[in-house]
Amino acid sequence: MDFRNYAKQYPDRKGYFGDYGGIYLPPDLEKAMLEIADAYETIAHSAQFINELRRIRREFQGRPTPVYHCERLSRELGTTQIYLKREDLNHTGAHKLNHCMGEGLLAKYMGKKKLIAETGAGQHGVALATAAAFFGLECEIHMGEVDIKKQAPNVARMKLLGAKVVPATHGLKTLKEAVDSAFETYMNEFEDSMYCIGSVVGPHPFPKMVRDFQMVVGEEAREQFLEMTGYLPDAIVGAVGGGSNAIGLFLPFLNDPVDIYGVEPLGRSTKLGDHAASLTYGEKGVMHGFQSIMLKDKEGEPAPVYSVASGLDYPSTGPEHAFLNDLGRVKYDVISDEEALDAFYKLSRMEGIIPAIESSHALAYAMKLAKKEDNPGFVLVNLSGRGDKDMDFVLEKYGEKFQL
Ligand SMILES: *Cc1c(COP(=O)(O)O)cnc(C)c1O
Repeated sequence: MDFRNYAKQYPDRKGYFGDYGGIYLPPDLEKAMLEIADAYETIAHSAQFINELRRIRREFQGRPTPVYHCERLSRELGTTQIYLKREDLNHTGAHKLNHCMGEGLLAKYMGKKKLIAETGAGQHGVALATAAAFFGLECEIHMGEVDIKKQAPNVARMKLLGAKVVPATHGLKTLKEAVDSAFETYMNEFEDSMYCIGSVVGPHPFPKMVRDFQMVVGEEAREQFLEMTGYLPDAIVGAVGGGSNAIGLFLPFLNDPVDIYGVEPLGRSTKLGDHAASLTYGEKGVMHGFQSIMLKDKEGEPAPVYSVASGLDYPSTGPEHAFLNDLGRVKYDVISDEEALDAFYKLSRMEGIIPAIESSHALAYAMKLAKKEDNPGFVLVNLSGRGDKDMDFVLEKYGEKFQL
């Protein structure tokens, strides 16, 4: 397949990447999604919108983020040279702000007054609350009551930024309930508010919109890498939860002779409930308003998932990843909790960079590639975020293992 015009060709007008994507929602909400899709196509391609977003990225987010060559780590591993795209240096410490600023700017152009979203561990909530404060919009973040207790620092951040945090008090009181609660609010208020999804998941146009806003990562990285080395990388790697940081890195390299790897969390084991490797072990299904590959329980409902990285434990993945997997253009593989923790520790000790435990999955995979007999010469890893948020947990649970 020819990938030169890929990003323009996919998704199609109805939001499909091959069999995956679409809008699976009640008619009222479907209408609201189509309104966002229409607005996005006209507004987001205007020179005014593009220029404003560029200025925000430069002056507020601190972009472009650098590409960094891990010399010490590479030397220890052998001959493969490992490079990091430093999204941990993006404002708020992860790639998520890239799409939140885009979504916020679109909401402003559409005349909306309020941003609504759900959040699990609170990372998306914090990024969106940041965007809302920047644009002077109201912000309402729905979060399971159980997660609110577990993620106190992120809840404090959201409140400090002026967001209203709404507890979801039914069922298991975690992410799924937060999604229900946020959708319910949005259903009643969609005239004046915009729903902002935190990854390349959910109904059309979110998988496309979030991807387009994240492509800045791959576009910058490709140019920076060429300038630094004179070559394209032999392989690029991204960790896949919903899939936004990975797709942002991958897309600008699709038409290049570059091997592309998406890394899913294997958690504790291959048993259902012990991991969140949706593409590796899942099957076709519909959830949260879109069709993709997902992990199901015996009743066909989204299965319980687990990963040491709370940003990766989602029972499905973006429809575009399912499509690229079918096409064979991206190879998807898994990394366990233990391998990710090992990479977390190595990067901290050898390079002075404490990575997010999510990003550590991608780094661990690059380290694995480096140890192969036919190892690649240059590997570029998306370091999607910084690890401050994970330190307490790692020290408490794994301090002994690493003799900290
Ligand atoms: C949320 C998060 C992820 C996972 O989200 P994707 O949409 O799969 O990118 C990865 N890394 C970090 C640092 C995150 O905060």
